[in-house]
Amino acid sequence: MAAMASDRNPPAAADAIDVAIGFALPARDARGRLVRLGPVLGEILSAHDYPAPIARVLAEALVLTALLGVTLKDAGGQLTVQAQTESGVIDLLVCDFRGGELRGYIRFDAERLAERPSQPSLFALFGKGYLAITFDQAVSGERYQGIVPLEGGSLAEAAEHFFVQSEQIPSLVRLALAAGGRVAGGILLQHLPEGEEGRERLHARLDHPEWDHVRILAETIRDGELTDPALPLDALLWRLFHDEEEVRILSGTQLSRGCRCDYDHVRSVLARFGAEERAEMADESGRIKVDCEFCSRVFPVELSDLEK
Ligand SMILES: [Zn+2]
Repeated sequence: MAAMASDRNPPAAADAIDVAIGFALPARDARGRLVRLGPVLGEILSAHDYPAPIARVLAEALVLTALLGVTLKDAGGQLTVQAQTESGVIDLLVCDFRGGELRGYIRFDAERLAERPSQPSLFALFGKGYLAITFDQAVSGERYQGIVPLEGGSLAEAAEHFFVQSEQIPSLVRLALAAGGRVAGGILLQHLPEGEEGRERLHARLDHPEWDHVRILAETIRDGELTDPALPLDALLWRLFHDEEEVRILSGTQLSRGCRCDYDHVRSVLARFGAEERAEMADESGRIKVDCEFCSRVFPVELSDLEK
């Protein structure tokens, strides 16, 4: 018989969008998270005017960022997902998560993108590159960064490689985007035997039968389920694991779009340049316009304001 137990403010059943939930299958030593983005994704993408293949990559990266970010122990901690390449169509992707707030952007070459097929593979977009995932814990000041080559046919596969290579944690990652690109969702499932979370493990057991069992169940998840805005995440969890002894919902997190850019920071960065360089950056009216790469907000800074 299966039982659904919960603690720490799980979202109401109606919460099926812009939300993340954590869960555990204690009898199988497995933990995971589910994320679904809707209006928040629309808000982030609306700050940019990305072609469809770039918007798709950013949507998937934002879901991945939320899947990882909700594991941060303290609310002020930050999780950053960054992909960098030397000669790809996309040369930089940055997404971060702090306190339920997501943001992200992609830097790419529009001309070279136009030469690619309409559904380019991950490799066609990035070429040879690296995926870096950074956990910054605010309270302890601890920082952890893992870097792996950007490999696989999709960002989800690259993330799975990250966990196996960098963390030695057997993991399943699925990222999905609905047709039309308005809803995105994802699942992260990991094999974490009791007491091993956070501890360095030199010899990972990638062939554990308990892990095989839950991985096979999770693999039955369909893109349409991950991106159905009417299907609450706990109901989706139940569909996947209803035959399990216990499915525990650990926590729910509301997700929002957030950016931390501000005028004073922009001003302090510009103030580090010499007067001559600043004059070159300014327009005829004596103003330097700096736009935030994450949210496209424009900060006009008067040269006179920098000379104070
Ligand atoms: Zn911003």
